[in-house]
Amino acid sequence: MSTAIVNIGELVTNDPALGGLGIVDDAALVIEDGSVAWTGPSSKAPAADTAFDAAGRAVLPGFVDSHAHLVFAGERAEEFAARMSGRKYAAGGIRTTVERTRAASDDDLRANVRRLIDEMARQGTTTVECKSGYGLTVDQEERAVRIAAELADEVTYLGAHIVPAEYGNDTAAYTHLASTDMLAACAPHARWVDVFCERGAFDADQAREVLRAGVEAGLSPRLHANQLTQGPAVRLAVELDAASADHCTFLSDADVDALASSETVATLLPGVEFSTRQPYPDARRLLDAGATVALATDCNPGSCYSSSMAFCIAVAVRDMHMTPAEAVWSATAGGAQALRRTDVGHLTPGARADIHVLDAPSHIHLAYRPGVPQTAAVWKAGRQV
Ligand SMILES: [Zn+2]
Repeated sequence: MSTAIVNIGELVTNDPALGGLGIVDDAALVIEDGSVAWTGPSSKAPAADTAFDAAGRAVLPGFVDSHAHLVFAGERAEEFAARMSGRKYAAGGIRTTVERTRAASDDDLRANVRRLIDEMARQGTTTVECKSGYGLTVDQEERAVRIAAELADEVTYLGAHIVPAEYGNDTAAYTHLASTDMLAACAPHARWVDVFCERGAFDADQAREVLRAGVEAGLSPRLHANQLTQGPAVRLAVELDAASADHCTFLSDADVDALASSETVATLLPGVEFSTRQPYPDARRLLDAGATVALATDCNPGSCYSSSMAFCIAVAVRDMHMTPAEAVWSATAGGAQALRRTDVGHLTPGARADIHVLDAPSHIHLAYRPGVPQTAAVWKAGRQV
């Protein structure tokens, strides 16, 4: 069973051979067995079993949202309102969600993850990374990664999100738990290990302890780094060859150099700065230095309750000085690189058929028309959503 998408006004392939977004105008694309089988000029499209007329619109790879926290219960709208009235964001707000999440049933948590992944798919997101981190006991964290693994493409064990209230100030004891029994319970369901390395959460030595133990258990590292302050987290991510250092809001020159000379992707989460009224990370500085930049939502009930990659693109272009092409690349191919995935984030033959038909003639409209729904159709692994 093959499907041809014809009459594509602008096809964004992210083919490195073509450079930039690898744009092909007046194009067609053929899907077969869940993968992209062919791309090229419309006039040369091979015959297929069914056809979808894109009517001159733009077609992009599905967004790759490489950073999200979806296993939670409850919401924190009042905290957001208070913040907008002047209260500062602090890492401790996570504990509010921990209480609600622990009290929720498996079915409630599963329904929440499904609801958000569906919401993302309706906006063109076809690959989702999902973290644990609101359970913070062995059983609760195991439950979170198990439920995430049922529904998300990529699962991250984030037991070291915050020290739970019952540990008081004994961060060392909780770090030990997160590096031993909790890790052992979670590792079978996860591919990644992550730590919130920040003042008020875990310091660099504690983060290193958890990440090294995670690597021993077969997981790959990624890191919440330099969100609220400058610190050692970005350099720790590079030291451990983490797939990505996420946030990167406060960077020293040494941090930028370290990222630029490594395989570690700088994942920027502009929705967080928007929702916490913090200064945006300097994407231009990273790009000009030669670092690889990804954009992701960080969708979570506290610091950014948005699942919209298009919103991230618009903010990145308007306030972080990325070009529309750079922002779209970072939200697709950049996200794939941050997850070390080669099958998504591009539309060249052999890629997973994750396809986003925009209700617009060009990718530029994602930044040009902020806040406007522009998703016309979505395929994930060759199946129309
Ligand atoms: Zn996060």
